Amino acid sequence: MTQLPPAKQGMPCQRLKQILQTLADPTPEQVVAEIDRCLSGGLGLPPRVFFETTEQASVAISITDPDAIILYANAAFERVTGYRADEVIGKNESLLSYKTTPRGYYERMWTDIKAGKSWTGRLVNRRKDGSRYLAELTISPVLSESGAIQYFLGIHRDITEVRHLHAQVASQKALIETVLDLAPMAVALLDDADKVVLDNHEYKKLASLFPGGEPARHVLRALFGEDGSHFKLPGEGFSEREFVIERGGSPMRWFSCSGVWFDRRETSAEAFLDSHRRRYLVLVMDDITPHKRRQEEQRLATLRAMLAEGEMVQSLREAISGAIYQLQGPVNLIEAALKMAQRRGSSGDSSALIGVLREALESGQSALDRLTQSMPSEAQESAAPVNLNEIVRDVLSVSTGPLLSAGVSVEWKPAPVLPAIPGRATALRTMLKQLVDNAIQAMVAHRSLDRELRIITSSSDDGVMIQVEDTGPGVPEGLRTKIFEPFFTTHRPMSRNAGMGLALAQEVVARHGGSLRIDPHYERGCRFEVFFPRGSREVE
Ligand code: FAD
Repeated sequence: MTQLPPAKQGMPCQRLKQILQTLADPTPEQVVAEIDRCLSGGLGLPPRVFFETTEQASVAISITDPDAIILYANAAFERVTGYRADEVIGKNESLLSYKTTPRGYYERMWTDIKAGKSWTGRLVNRRKDGSRYLAELTISPVLSESGAIQYFLGIHRDITEVRHLHAQVASQKALIETVLDLAPMAVALLDDADKVVLDNHEYKKLASLFPGGEPARHVLRALFGEDGSHFKLPGEGFSEREFVIERGGSPMRWFSCSGVWFDRRETSAEAFLDSHRRRYLVLVMDDITPHKRRQEEQRLATLRAMLAEGEMVQSLREAISGAIYQLQGPVNLIEAALKMAQRRGSSGDSSALIGVLREALESGQSALDRLTQSMPSEAQESAAPVNLNEIVRDVLSVSTGPLLSAGVSVEWKPAPVLPAIPGRATALRTMLKQLVDNAIQAMVAHRSLDRELRIITSSSDDGVMIQVEDTGPGVPEGLRTKIFEPFFTTHRPMSRNAGMGLALAQEVVARHGGSLRIDPHYERGCRFEVFFPRGSREVE
């Protein structure tokens, strides 16, 4: 066993001598008590206990003189370094140096410990067999009563394995982060308080879309509402849920989002003794905007074709209805003339006239019947919940060309939340497009300098409303009811407007249980108001 260094063995005696000199006339009891205190270091423990404790400590302990000459080394020191204590006592601690540590590092260490401060650092050490190990070393100066450095206490442990494990974890983390960063989709790892603990480049890029907030939280709120508690249930994940980001001024972005929960054991100090597991959510967001744009373009092209076909059917119906309307007058006159002639009797002249009139009536009625039969029927469409914001967006999208060529600027103010109404989307689109086309036509015909179209949707306890405003000439008070009558038009007789547009628009709105009117108080141009009361049901 290692012997206590001679200098250390002498310490309690010197201290006792000093104390006894301060006592004027010490009694035997006082002397015994002082001897006891000195031997036990004032703690009631004999010095042997300190020695054995140090000797059996599991960390390598050495005591040196102020020049790092080793005076004592414990058993753990022997195990860690491979040197026996008697091989190192009297040698400098530098015999452990692997000679790779930069000189400046030692200089800083020595500056600290010479100044009486404790120093902790890592050094590459060499064992007796020449192998290296990484030592975590703390050197503490042991001061005399006057504050001079008497010894240095060195405590070190081999942290090669720990360092290796740390390096492995760090490199695996770096690897995971690199792979994550290379992923083309945004990935974030959230703890159970929705705090992002790991993310990738693509996720960081999303920050610009959500100024002043964590993108993941916005996304979860958009997908699951404010509370979102139901998707946190055990085992619940979700896959390919789509959401759209719409920011005023910037193009829409679509994302497909999936989430997977997993449990992980807590590593914090408080959780050391219990087996508490924490839940984490891996959130993956894939930007599907290009794909969605293509889909949307296809949808709009189909919509355009449907609306164009609808318009064609409508103008045919208008033309045929106009012809029927025009023909009905003469046929009615012929019928009246026939009845008159029949009342007068069937003399020679009259019977010839009756015959001619009957023939004329028959051919007029058969022309009317043929016209009625040739009327193209309206497209059949089944009713479904319709969001009027989407109807407005569709109509504005398909009207982009006419709006641009007419130099009309558009302001679109959608209600943030708009309850769906039961309805027929195509009929409603046709109706709204009629109002938009009318507004463009009115502003162009009036040669308005400021051509503005504003569409506002709103919702109240009573129902939902679309307002279509233009900066055209407006509709004079006397015509505000008339313009909804069939075949009423303010356009030239030969223009392509047969005067059925608003009549049909009103019919569509009425079939949805709503109302279409002109706001009499609007003065900048014309404002049409389409209103669907809450709970309105479409009527056939
Ligand atoms: P050296 O020439 O010995 O020293 C390098 C630089 O250190 C010098 O330029 C000088 O600035 C400074 N220096 C050295 N000795 C002194 C001194 N007495 N006073 C002021 N400055 C000085 N080193 C290890 O490599 N591994 C260890 O495990 C280790 N344990 C130590 C434990 C204790 C308690 C102490 C006090 C020192 C320990 N050292 C240890 C430091 C060791 O004593 C050497 O300073 C170091 O190993 C560098 O040795 P060297 O031969 O490469 O260079």
